Amino acid sequence: MWPVIAGALVLAIGAGIYVGIVIARRVETGKWEMPAPGEVVEIVLPPEPPGPSKVIFLEKAPVTITPGQDDAPRGVSSVVQHYHPDGPVKLPGWKGSAASWKKLVACVQKLFAPFDVVVTDQRPAHDDYVFVPVGGKPADIGGKKKSVAGLAPFHGGVINRPVVFAFAGAMRHQVQPTCETIGMEVAHAYGLDHAYLCSDVMTYLKPCGAKKFVDKDVPCGEHKKRACHGGAPTQNSYRALLGVLGPKPAPSTPAPPAKSTKK
Ligand SMILES: [Zn+2]
Repeated sequence: MWPVIAGALVLAIGAGIYVGIVIARRVETGKWEMPAPGEVVEIVLPPEPPGPSKVIFLEKAPVTITPGQDDAPRGVSSVVQHYHPDGPVKLPGWKGSAASWKKLVACVQKLFAPFDVVVTDQRPAHDDYVFVPVGGKPADIGGKKKSVAGLAPFHGGVINRPVVFAFAGAMRHQVQPTCETIGMEVAHAYGLDHAYLCSDVMTYLKPCGAKKFVDKDVPCGEHKKRACHGGAPTQNSYRALLGVLGPKPAPSTPAPPAKSTKK
């Protein structure tokens, strides 16, 4: 049975800048509970380059991540800055089977299929991507709570070149929960809040079937409804991602063959 994924959104308010750490929490006891408060961090954000990163890079190899402002190609993470500011951390990488890894990549690709973004497990040749080291446990980056399944930086808008964590080791390298954790955490880095809808990737509610980014205006919230980050009464996770990323371009079709003309 898949463990249940849940999570919490904890926000810090400081100097007019809202930054938070988003925590997806796996609750194996079957009890629904909020993570303890206090996982907050305030980050002063420098001006960011325009536009969201259009590549999501899933890394299965062991990695070393250093603390600082998010910089995916250089392996710098504000989440690590929060949990382990003294220096680099090491993550062991994916320890599941090669077949499971293939399924995981395909699962994440399916989640993001409607949008103009590429999900790959090959390191991009350019610098502008979302970096997702897959594997390890929260303790590897200094997190104290074993039940945390993933972590992402969050401020309600697009974070460029973010480093997003999916602690596959805490999910026994099961494909579906790891896939859905990656979906939620990456979407947080694109600015999405938690959706109060059990079928949505962004939910903390007990899942009700396969999750996707649902095209429906719903309240935000973890275990009860609340206004969304920024004050809107609802969020539509599908439309929100469309707004950030745009729709997947139609596949280029070969030019129709020229009609032969009879003379
Ligand atoms: Zn979350």
